[in-house]
Amino acid sequence: MSISLNSSVQYLKSIGPKKGELFSKIGINTVHDLLYFFPSRYLDRTTILDSSKVSNFVALGYKNEITIIGKVVETEEIRYGKKSIFKVSFKDEKGFFECVWFSGIKFFRNRFKVDDYYAISAKPVITKYGHLQFAHPDFDKLSSSESVDFRNTGKIIPFYRVPAELKKSNLGDLSFRKIISIAVTKCIDEISETLPVNIVVHNNLLDIKATIKNKHFPETIALLDRANYRLKFEELFYIESLIALKKNKQKKRNGFSYKVNIPLVKKFLQSLSFSLTNAQLKALHDIRLDLESSTPMNRLLQGDVGSGKTIVALISLLIVVSNNKQAAFMAPTEILAIQHFNNLKEMLADFPIKVELLLGGQKAKEKNAAYSKMEDSISAIYVGTHALIEDRARFSNLGLAIIDEQHKFGVAQRSSLITKSYAPDVLVMTATPIPRTLTMTLYGDLDITIIDEMPKNRIPIKTYLRSDSKLDKIYKFVIDSIHKGLQAFIVYPLVEESDKLDLKAAEQYFADLSNTVFSKQRVGLIHGKMKWDEKREAMEKFAEKEFDLLISTTVIEVGIDIPNANIMVINDAHRFGLSQLHQLRGRIGRGKEQGHCILVTSEAFAKKQFDASFNFDFLSPAQIQKNKTIIRLNSLVNYSSGFKLAEIDMKLRGPGDIYGLKQSGLPDFKYANLIEDQDILLIAKDAAFSLIDSDPSLTKNENKIIRDNIRNFYKSNLHYSNIA
Ligand code: ADP
Ligand code: MG
Repeated sequence: MSISLNSSVQYLKSIGPKKGELFSKIGINTVHDLLYFFPSRYLDRTTILDSSKVSNFVALGYKNEITIIGKVVETEEIRYGKKSIFKVSFKDEKGFFECVWFSGIKFFRNRFKVDDYYAISAKPVITKYGHLQFAHPDFDKLSSSESVDFRNTGKIIPFYRVPAELKKSNLGDLSFRKIISIAVTKCIDEISETLPVNIVVHNNLLDIKATIKNKHFPETIALLDRANYRLKFEELFYIESLIALKKNKQKKRNGFSYKVNIPLVKKFLQSLSFSLTNAQLKALHDIRLDLESSTPMNRLLQGDVGSGKTIVALISLLIVVSNNKQAAFMAPTEILAIQHFNNLKEMLADFPIKVELLLGGQKAKEKNAAYSKMEDSISAIYVGTHALIEDRARFSNLGLAIIDEQHKFGVAQRSSLITKSYAPDVLVMTATPIPRTLTMTLYGDLDITIIDEMPKNRIPIKTYLRSDSKLDKIYKFVIDSIHKGLQAFIVYPLVEESDKLDLKAAEQYFADLSNTVFSKQRVGLIHGKMKWDEKREAMEKFAEKEFDLLISTTVIEVGIDIPNANIMVINDAHRFGLSQLHQLRGRIGRGKEQGHCILVTSEAFAKKQFDASFNFDFLSPAQIQKNKTIIRLNSLVNYSSGFKLAEIDMKLRGPGDIYGLKQSGLPDFKYANLIEDQDILLIAKDAAFSLIDSDPSLTKNENKIIRDNIRNFYKSNLHYSNIA
């Protein structure tokens, strides 16, 4: 029968119904699916060395991994007492080399047959007998014709990550390559273009057929690069199109246009004990223009920990509420909401503005009172946690929604606050510093203001890495500082969401410390499981200097602002993530005193200090992975910039796992890498935005393809364009 794109793969030569079933288990049902199952890597002649060259390199001290191709001449198992070594000897045009295995021999024993060709990748060594040797290499089987082609014509050979299920039924690298080759030959002409032709032409992209063909069997490395480029571009183009569609829709809504009460704002600014930084003024200017315009504001305010975002938020709230509207200020923790509430109360004491507090843990009576004010159009600033997005929270007149520490909220939570009104102005704030292009994609439908300047006269915090065997000394330092009038946080790595065990642990730490080392100090305790008014009391007492010392879990991680607290001891610091440590440390060094942050960890992590100038670029990926914890801790000692730390964090974790990204609703990218492909992203974004600008409802015939593709393949990402 004739094979077409939609045929089941079982009809391809050498598959059949049994293997066909295995294919469908791994998500490959049709020939079309198979064509989109791409190689994970390639063998390219330019990267291959022969045995004589490798030997010369090794003699010169070269130690990195190389790839070499050879034919098996002999395999042998050598026994030494109870141990054995498995050795395979190979030959290439220039000489001989050998591969050895010290373990897992059973598995490798039957893999190598005399006269078969293999590509071997590993670090080379020269043995004491002068043999070129590779220990435990990666290897891929080649057919003899592939090996000949490779040597003579320089063909590039693809390698597929053949799923274990298929390998088990004897479908190895070789047969897999053959199957794909048949599929490409028979069906490539049926593949239809997935981008509008003018986008392909304008951006000098390979068409889809050439892309798929070269992705599997690249004619040249240059063409492979272009195929990769096209796949990344397409993926980013579709995501950016979704974002552009969303942004366009928002713009069409008519919002409220505020009058800025300038004397009132001036009076407020004069009441502050400091003047705003230029970056803060610039942010306020952006926000003012948004509020004055009738298009709803949709803005992200990004600035490192301690850069002074709160005051910008407060002034925005002031402007809106003095226009007789309601405003909501949502924070991720009760402690932070309480702090904002207290702050607003105090700063607005001389202003005719009401402030209400709404927390999940409040008594029903208090909550109901606040909810009914909301419903009765009472203009006030409603500060709170998730309680602001409960069904009962029915704002009758919501003009502005501010979300603090937005990365701590899920997509759904953010949008449920925003949908409390038809088209409120929205300001989301975050300290999580991420590269610009990531911001563009995560928050592509938002306008962005960055506070890139710290308040003047901040003294950089001193950070130390210490072994827990030094705790006595550390606590003595804390006591000395308290005698000088400073306050301290002592943080334990207890996870707030977890169970009672941790709660007990926090109480235990508190009891231990307050009865022993700190028996003469006034010690407070705060953790997430306390009732909200207990939290409030603890925070207020600490702020009022009624406590010298606050023992805390990670609840204080976000937003807490106590300028007189300048010492922080973080226990078991190795158990925290980098951005979490940065956020925690950001709680101190907010006032005029020198801040000290002591990272306490086990001996093993504390001992090994990297040079203060250590540079990532000199470490191999393997070294980085091996020393993750030590790098994390030392980075914190060496750097104070959130951007720098985020960059390091990304290298440690990979972009898929960046702080806050998981909750962001950002799709997993198959081809593009948001960190490495920033250039492509910018181009794809421009292309998508100008296309949507010129055809906002995708009605033009040439753009029908986009509409269809969004429906068919990007449906699951549609929510994503509703990020904020
Ligand atoms: P974040 O951006 O992390 O939310 P905050 O808004 O909590 O930072 O501000 C940190 C501290 O800096 C607060 O104590 C705040 O009062 C103070 N602050 C804000 N702006 C300035 C400024 N322009 N000059 C001096 N101190 C400032
Ligand atoms: Mg803040």
